[in-house]
Amino acid sequence: MKPRPSFPANLNDSGAKPKPGLGRSVLQPAKGSPSHTTPTLRTPPVSMGLGLDSSAVRAQMVAKLATQGVQDALVLQAMGRVERHRFVESALAGQAYEDTSLPIGFEQTISKPNVVARMIELLRQDAQGKLGRILEIGTGCGYQAAVLSHVATEVYSIERLRGLHEKAKKNLLPFRLPNVHLIFGDGMLGFPKGAPYAGIISAAGGDNVPQAWLDQLATGGRLVAPTVTSTGHQALVVIHKTSQGFDRQVLEAVHFVPLKSGIA
Ligand code: SAH
Repeated sequence: MKPRPSFPANLNDSGAKPKPGLGRSVLQPAKGSPSHTTPTLRTPPVSMGLGLDSSAVRAQMVAKLATQGVQDALVLQAMGRVERHRFVESALAGQAYEDTSLPIGFEQTISKPNVVARMIELLRQDAQGKLGRILEIGTGCGYQAAVLSHVATEVYSIERLRGLHEKAKKNLLPFRLPNVHLIFGDGMLGFPKGAPYAGIISAAGGDNVPQAWLDQLATGGRLVAPTVTSTGHQALVVIHKTSQGFDRQVLEAVHFVPLKSGIA
């Protein structure tokens, strides 16, 4: 068996100092580079009047996630904190705490709570406390970015569809999450300015894992991405970057929207 690589201290909360030059003030879009913004609070959350504002509905969802095998206490806690119904159209809000994916417009979907929790748990394997900087590919409506904000020190989330990037900004505004940075751009290129990342998580599935993601992952970090495998089907792939190279694990079959290149 290969010796187990030590997990660098700076991948976890304790040692994760913000990278010089990565403060909010410098996160201004450079000419010709993707735009990115940090949502700030303007309006308080609006009451939905659907009983969905009660933490009890989320507690129920969390209890179900635990019976489905999610064990990471920090992940369960984060899933209990984020109000998923605020990320979907009001007509679908009643289904927000069911274990189902839901449309978010632009032919895209928000993943099932179970899949979100499972992927974040995989990302956090062996982590003590919060993770350091995380890159999410596919912001969508912003839900997963909000969950990630409670388990990592900084979240960079990139979306290729301007309409969804704008929607996520609006959705995240009331949550006051200063550690979430939304970027409009092609996530297939990663986001080099925030690298190296303690974790990279993709919400869209490609034919393979882009080299940029492997390059931008910190040694000791993990990447979780739906990827087409040798069987021709999509499965969750976990890649652990060690000082000796990359350990690749192919897990269960999944069905994610496609990873596409370019912006639209
Ligand atoms: N995490 C999201 C799920 C969104 S679905 C949520 O919580 O809602 C996946 C998203 O990946 C879609 O919005 C899609 O537009 C986006 N996507 C696909 N290819 C991409 C790419 N190359 N770069 C950035 N985003 C991409």
